Amino acid sequence: MQAASQLAASAKPTDGQHKAALPHEAALHYPLDEQLPAPGGVIELAPGVLWVRMSLPFALNHINLWLLRDQVDGLDGWTLVDCGISDDATRSHWEQIFAHHLQGLPVLRVVVTHMHPDHIGLAHWLCQRWSTAQRDCRLWISHTDWSVARFAVRSTTGFGGEATARFFALHGLTDPEMLDQVRKRTSYYSSMVPQVPDSYRRLLHGHSLHVNGLAWRCVVGYGHAPEHISLHCEALGLLISGDMVLPRISTNVSVIEAEPEGNPLRLFLDSLEALRALPADTLVLPSHGKPFVGLHTRIQQLSEHHEARFDDVLQACAQQPGSAAEMLPVLFKRELDLHQTTFALGEAIAHMHALAERGQLLAQPGADGVLRWRTALQRHQAQRNPTVGRPQVERLQAKKSGR
Ligand SMILES: [Zn+2]
Repeated sequence: MQAASQLAASAKPTDGQHKAALPHEAALHYPLDEQLPAPGGVIELAPGVLWVRMSLPFALNHINLWLLRDQVDGLDGWTLVDCGISDDATRSHWEQIFAHHLQGLPVLRVVVTHMHPDHIGLAHWLCQRWSTAQRDCRLWISHTDWSVARFAVRSTTGFGGEATARFFALHGLTDPEMLDQVRKRTSYYSSMVPQVPDSYRRLLHGHSLHVNGLAWRCVVGYGHAPEHISLHCEALGLLISGDMVLPRISTNVSVIEAEPEGNPLRLFLDSLEALRALPADTLVLPSHGKPFVGLHTRIQQLSEHHEARFDDVLQACAQQPGSAAEMLPVLFKRELDLHQTTFALGEAIAHMHALAERGQLLAQPGADGVLRWRTALQRHQAQRNPTVGRPQVERLQAKKSGR
């Protein structure tokens, strides 16, 4: 989450524990109904597959984690998937689970789907907690997410600081108080992820993790995190989807200042389409919300959701060229506080970039330093009659590029 899930949390309906179902959820099936694991407790979903739920101090108030009964190098124990953030409550709930629900067996390895704080936060503590003089309890993660997490604990990139503030200003965030908050947010990641293990074992798309004799195939997903790994067990009909497919909220997909021209939304939508290859009756174990059946339905809903937002943005920009910040009321039809706004903005930029790559929007740098977007159609009209409504900045650009 954090980067991600909190964004999602802030910008979307709260995924609370006892909220009424949203209309789109009627098309999904929750086989466990309202059952949720108690704090420090577990629910067994399939033989040797346990569901753990930890609290998060955000609007998105929980994360789901998984324990898989395993045997590694002849040793009986457990593989743990995702960790929770680094705080006392999460550590203490893990200790309760270790004491009462692991049949006295150790955790043998820690798998992390991606580098966001709610997923990797306690990885360092867990690996240390379960390593012995004879055997390392290893972190298993994609190479990219391990590297980016190592970088993020030492840096503010993507989460705040001066560069983020400049990037947001370019995209139309002009409120000085808000920009000041962004500038001051310099220990956002490290407050929830104090350390990342020094070594790891690489998860790679298409490789299988063998858990207690069963193959869990790694499926890469892009757009939400650098190299997100979901795990599909064909034999059990289970998909640990991480944040790539969530039943209630839509996954946050943001452009960040470290990759300012990125198009993560196209990557995300392409990754979702690839998941359609999995069986429709797969039980999806998401990081937020409840386990559900309806993978193909949910992928269709998410795809339609983003297409509808694309239409909204195009309509708004056809009326008047707008910055990403000016699209916030178009994309998020409710009040956003300062904190939520900064997260929603990354997502608004992602929509603009996806439309630009499709040739439907054009960037129009303003003399005020703000990047605005207009529909490609407007540009054609302007070119037919170059003296009407064509800002000076664009004439200058045309000159530079020799048009
Ligand atoms: Zn995430």
